Amino acid sequence: MFRISPSEAGTGRVESLSSFSVRYAEHMAVTFVELYRSIVHPRLFSESTRGTRVKIPPAMVIDGITKTAQDWTRAFEHIASIDDLSGCTLLPFAGVIAARRIVTLSRRWCPQCLDKMAERGRHAVFEPLVWRLDEVKSCGEHRRPLEATCPKCAKGGQYPFVANARVGCCRYCGSWMGQPARNVKQDVTDFDVFVAEKCEELISLPAILPPGAHLLQSSVVVQALRDVFFRGSGTGMARAVGELPGQVHGYIKGEFPAPLAFFMRVAAVTGASMREIFVTNAFESTNLSASTHTFELRRARPRRVVTQESIDNALQTALNGDGSKSVQAIAVDLRMEAATVWRRSPNLSSKVSQHHARYVAASAALRRAEFESKVHEVLSSFKGRGIRPTQDELKEALHDPACFLDDWKRTVIRQQSRKLDL
Ligand SMILES: [Zn+2]
Ligand SMILES: [Zn+2]
Repeated sequence: MFRISPSEAGTGRVESLSSFSVRYAEHMAVTFVELYRSIVHPRLFSESTRGTRVKIPPAMVIDGITKTAQDWTRAFEHIASIDDLSGCTLLPFAGVIAARRIVTLSRRWCPQCLDKMAERGRHAVFEPLVWRLDEVKSCGEHRRPLEATCPKCAKGGQYPFVANARVGCCRYCGSWMGQPARNVKQDVTDFDVFVAEKCEELISLPAILPPGAHLLQSSVVVQALRDVFFRGSGTGMARAVGELPGQVHGYIKGEFPAPLAFFMRVAAVTGASMREIFVTNAFESTNLSASTHTFELRRARPRRVVTQESIDNALQTALNGDGSKSVQAIAVDLRMEAATVWRRSPNLSSKVSQHHARYVAASAALRRAEFESKVHEVLSSFKGRGIRPTQDELKEALHDPACFLDDWKRTVIRQQSRKLDL
């Protein structure tokens, strides 16, 4: 039997992992539920499932930046004997773009693209990852909105997995969801098309990186954009893209990654390419683009909808968690200014801050201890070979080109060198 691999890998139209999983079952000539029960589920959960009736969880997201995505990627790399399937998900964007709501729960598709693929044969049909991005509302090529409901039975909620799932087909009635072009006026703006094109560019980035390299982290990117295009002013940047200043400052400080919507707006305003933004930070033009598009203040929900109860709930959840969430991060989730969260729930905010501070201190101590033992190990090895390492040699041996820029890291290196008499 010939092997199959994800369609259009390495391009902006790469197949999503959920589409590949469904197609893989088809390729094995079994239904999706059979593949799931006999091969996928046992790989994901090591406990024996014999005798129990395994159900496919209905709304599962395996194409985003989640633990589930990671588990499914590993599982299918093994099942399909493919080295790296992370490019079929948004996993390479962890820490680069906010994970929350980055992909939609249900599938979306361009009926014309589906039809075009079907013309080349059933084997050529797949669903690209870019259709699952929450920010992408339209097909750039056909300048039409992506669909989310079946043309036959009109049902939405088209989650990718169902017992007899097939790519391009409705999960309820099984109908083909492609459609030829219609001559109706399509409600697509230039900005929609811009976003669709930029998101394809974005999705193709992981494939151009040299082995072992990563995309730049969110805070690094936002700082660079602020400095190059907005003369170092986070507030000016916030104004230009219609974002709350408090949130932009949070992105800059690295408290949480910026969402895709923010990067799309920045790209529109600056004219910078995705590669410049996320890979090189070397911008060809540093003038703001002449785009006349003005952005409304980005608020997913009007302020009044955020009830006292939901603020308190979010804070309480953070308080019961491991402490990794700050009030600032909660405010971003709620799409509010941190100051508003503090004003409306001062006691809980204060408790969350204390909890978060303890977490930050503990993880800093842990990081320091880890770094200390790594430095000790590296220096001992140099000493064993009778070498007194230069800064460059140390940077390389520690795989940490920035270690001499950090005060505390410099101190650790100095202390450990003295200890070993180097
Ligand atoms: Zn299309
Ligand atoms: Zn249907």
